[in-house]
Amino acid sequence: MLDFFETFKALKEAALPSGIEGAQAEVIKKYAKDFCDEIYTDRIGNLICRKRGEGKKLMMPAHMDVIGFMATCIDERGFIRFAAVGGHRAYALPGTPVRFENGVCGCIGCDNETDVSSLSDVPATDLYIDIGAASKSDAEEHITPGTCAVFAAAPEKTADGSIITPYADNLAGCAALLCAMSEIKFSQNDLYFVFSAQEEVGCRGAKVAANAIRPDMGIAVDLTLTGDSPAERDNKRMAVSLGLGPAIKIRDSSLICDRPVVDFLRKCAEESGIKYQNEVLPAGGTDGSAMQRSQGGVLSGVVSIPGRNIHTPGEIIRESDALGAARLLAAAAQTEI
Ligand SMILES: [Zn+2]
Repeated sequence: MLDFFETFKALKEAALPSGIEGAQAEVIKKYAKDFCDEIYTDRIGNLICRKRGEGKKLMMPAHMDVIGFMATCIDERGFIRFAAVGGHRAYALPGTPVRFENGVCGCIGCDNETDVSSLSDVPATDLYIDIGAASKSDAEEHITPGTCAVFAAAPEKTADGSIITPYADNLAGCAALLCAMSEIKFSQNDLYFVFSAQEEVGCRGAKVAANAIRPDMGIAVDLTLTGDSPAERDNKRMAVSLGLGPAIKIRDSSLICDRPVVDFLRKCAEESGIKYQNEVLPAGGTDGSAMQRSQGGVLSGVVSIPGRNIHTPGEIIRESDALGAARLLAAAAQTEI
């Protein structure tokens, strides 16, 4: 199997937000080409890797976009106001370094009079990005409205195998899917591994891909929240924890997973000796919902990697959970649907 952490690190170097996923697609392509028969990109930017089989079509998406920011205007003093690309937790933003798509670095600031604790989940107009410019024209040499940024932070691995990084959602899912692809020996299924675009702004890429591929079954891989941290709003009513294995989703607010897929994934996990958790996510969604509602309906489910502080600069996952997800995806891909 590919080395998960090394693959993740290669992907995170290219991380860009929804709508401009070309850089991470190129990195993924380099890894994926050895494990499939055909690779192509569709018009919305999905990278589709097909491994042909005689049987039914199984689509496995992992979204490759990460959340970020888009400059909306530059004020008179050279500070950059921005819009969110995907959902953010505003309390985690002030003081956070960011990197623009052209390599320019900045740091998020907050207007002096703002009470950050009262901000809602999306960045308010009180936040801005400071690139150290001395004036509006100075800033305009580097940034124009529409220039995108992502968090800027190196991944750290702790002694117990936790990984702290802003890009776990969902470059960890992409790395897990690549690891799974590297494990597949033979499959009767006609496999479509889809590194999807624009999930964080409404599962747009997966919808396009599912309508084109017309799969018989869909299994997405993405991050899910946990109930084991005081930072989580739903920590009292969520059972998932770090380190207890990948989670098989039963429900989130976008999707009630089809029971045949949940049962299929459980059987794959049990037959392969993979410890798993049952996930009921009170709020949130994934590409699974886009597949389920494509064409006349597609049987859909999700394998999740548990994560704390999702959609902040300090997402925390456990490498063993990601490896468990990779093994489960590989088992599912090789089991006839
Ligand atoms: Zn995600």
